[in-house]
Amino acid sequence: MEWLKELNEQQKEAVLSTEGPLLVLAGAGSGKTRVITYRIAYILNMGLASPANILAITFTNKAADEMKERIKRLVSTQSFSEMWVSTFHAACARILRMEAHNIGFSNNFVIFDTQDRNQLLKECFDKLNIDTERLDIRYVSRQISNFKNQLIGPSDVYRYGEVDGRVVEVYKLYNKLLREYNAFDFDDLLYYTVVLFQTNPDILEKYQNKFKYILVDEYQDTNHAQFYFVYLLSQKHRNVCVVGDDDQSIYSFRGANIKNILEFEKVFSDAKVIKLEKNYRSTKTILSAANEVIKNNYYRKSKKLWTDNLEGEKIFLYSAFDEVNEAEFVASSVKNLIESGLSPSEIGVLYRTNAQSINFENVLSAYSVPYKVVGALRFYERKEIKDIIAYLRLITNPHDDLSLFRIINVPRRGIGNSTIEKIKVLSEEYGVSAYIVLLERAKFDFDKKTYEKLKGFISLIEDLKAEAENLSVSQTIKLVLDKTEYLESLLSSKNEEEFQRAKNIEQLISAAAIFEEENEEPTLQNFLNSITLSSDDEDTQKEEKVSLMTVHAAKGLEFEVVFLTGLEEGLFPLVRAEEPIEAEKELEEERRLCYVAITRAKKLLVLTYANNRRVFGRLSSRQRSCFIEEIPQKYIQVVNSPIIKTHQKFSVKINQAEDFSINNLQVGNKVQHGKFGVGKVVWLSDDMREVIVDFEKIGQKRLLLSYANLKRI
Ligand code: ATP
Ligand code: MG
Repeated sequence: MEWLKELNEQQKEAVLSTEGPLLVLAGAGSGKTRVITYRIAYILNMGLASPANILAITFTNKAADEMKERIKRLVSTQSFSEMWVSTFHAACARILRMEAHNIGFSNNFVIFDTQDRNQLLKECFDKLNIDTERLDIRYVSRQISNFKNQLIGPSDVYRYGEVDGRVVEVYKLYNKLLREYNAFDFDDLLYYTVVLFQTNPDILEKYQNKFKYILVDEYQDTNHAQFYFVYLLSQKHRNVCVVGDDDQSIYSFRGANIKNILEFEKVFSDAKVIKLEKNYRSTKTILSAANEVIKNNYYRKSKKLWTDNLEGEKIFLYSAFDEVNEAEFVASSVKNLIESGLSPSEIGVLYRTNAQSINFENVLSAYSVPYKVVGALRFYERKEIKDIIAYLRLITNPHDDLSLFRIINVPRRGIGNSTIEKIKVLSEEYGVSAYIVLLERAKFDFDKKTYEKLKGFISLIEDLKAEAENLSVSQTIKLVLDKTEYLESLLSSKNEEEFQRAKNIEQLISAAAIFEEENEEPTLQNFLNSITLSSDDEDTQKEEKVSLMTVHAAKGLEFEVVFLTGLEEGLFPLVRAEEPIEAEKELEEERRLCYVAITRAKKLLVLTYANNRRVFGRLSSRQRSCFIEEIPQKYIQVVNSPIIKTHQKFSVKINQAEDFSINNLQVGNKVQHGKFGVGKVVWLSDDMREVIVDFEKIGQKRLLLSYANLKRI
């Protein structure tokens, strides 16, 4: 096993201590994941177990695939198909596929996603006559999820203190219906696997015997159910190895409990603890910056983390005028770096919320840079965006059946599947669009109650059509949101996922506002066309792509160059409306996120923020993030133009002594405007919000700088 040389002493000890409980508690980039991978390879190579005896848990499916690949490279002659390397959810689903009949489900159960789950909850509310105005459905959803993550069943709820009785009612009914549908939601996969083990000792024993070696990566982000699952399974052989970093615990909003890692030694009293202190990933500068930031957290185990790596470049900081300028800076830099030989897959663009991806997507595609959005759909493929776009399409063309069926019951207006089926049949029969069926036939072919609902839908679309005629695209989107009340429910949500959905819609409006500025004929039809085009250039299966992702999705990954964007107060750290509770703790979680983000970078870290950002299409001025202030000045170099790479060094591109940012626009500068062409700045307001440009073609024009999207030339 030549490859044992690729480990330092502590890592080797962790790999070789195969028997008994082991905790590896260590900072970012210190080789925790490497320890897990090599440990599995070692166990197999030594013949301590066969692949079927291994259970390795990773945080994402992608990480699982990567780990499997690495192990295969280290181990020669084994059949790997029997080795379980997966997420908790996938492992539990696999167990339940074989065993669910023991707890009253059938093995061919279905798994409910968030949408199915919300729909079912709504059904429960209806059945129990609970008004969704009086009890927030998402609140209940969150409560139920918390209960399940803590292994608290409906009948145990009261033992855990004050709980709203209606929540318990819903919880009971919800679980009953899930059982009737033979369905599990995500939380159930773990919950019921634990129930299975608890109620069937023989089955538990079977799996305890099978899994001689259990390994868990990113242990700091496990919840109670996951802890208990591991605990139960490891009771026989007790060869359980967990690795993690309390500073990277970033999923408490999903019930992750940092106690699991901090109290591992209590639960497994004979546990061995190994600390890794050498970071192999980042330059000294990047690591120091990360250490300086995380130092500000009070709730943490302090740890040493050092590196032998070079000092490296300073951390670049770019102050953008607005989010478009930010995206242009990032995209130009990315393009330069790729042109100078860096592989696109070595570049990561990180942001705090999914909604921010759209600006980068737009500019990167304009620059023909290959990219992928990791862990999320591309912007225009997201459900809420598709919903809104379906409304817009229907407004421009009511005979677009696909769009009609997409939103006829979104948000829910009581038009069920059987009605929809019937509309389809009728439209087939008469050879007309569904819309015509609704207009002409609804009165005759549906019962009164259904007819009323259909009529409501038709008049909604008719109203939208009529009003949209005199509105801009962004105003039309707002109108759709108003009339359908699409946004209301999402905005008030504390559920991360729904909150992100609301943010996405907000971004769509901003994108429309930008579109209006940049296009000569900013009609709704043209807007829809432009969207169709940008979502159409589907990837050509080339692997080499720039990764765009949220910081959450970047956990465990690493890139040569990382752009950490949107570093503004309110955005990163993210502040949610009406959420002052435990502000301090939340700030600490945001700071851990920032630590995760910074430590993804190997050679170069680039920080950006926008001084202005559109919120629902309206520009608001921003303050840069407190996290930037926490990095000592000496590590930072402010840059004004895109980054390039020359030989081994990164630097900025100084283009005819001009800087790229329009922050420093001055009277006399030559600029280009998407619609009006080339012109010269003749006046600037003191606050830099307004500008008068003398265009060659059309003469003087007063513009709002933030919207005009001027480029210096
Ligand atoms: P994170 O906390 O971000 O999950 P980690 O502790 O899991 O990080 P790894 O991803 O395992 O760290 O390792 C970080 C980088 O350092 C990887 O590129 C890995 O290949 C490299 N590395 C780890 N250990 C060594 C070593 N002993 N020698 C050389 N390179 C190493
Ligand atoms: Mg790791």
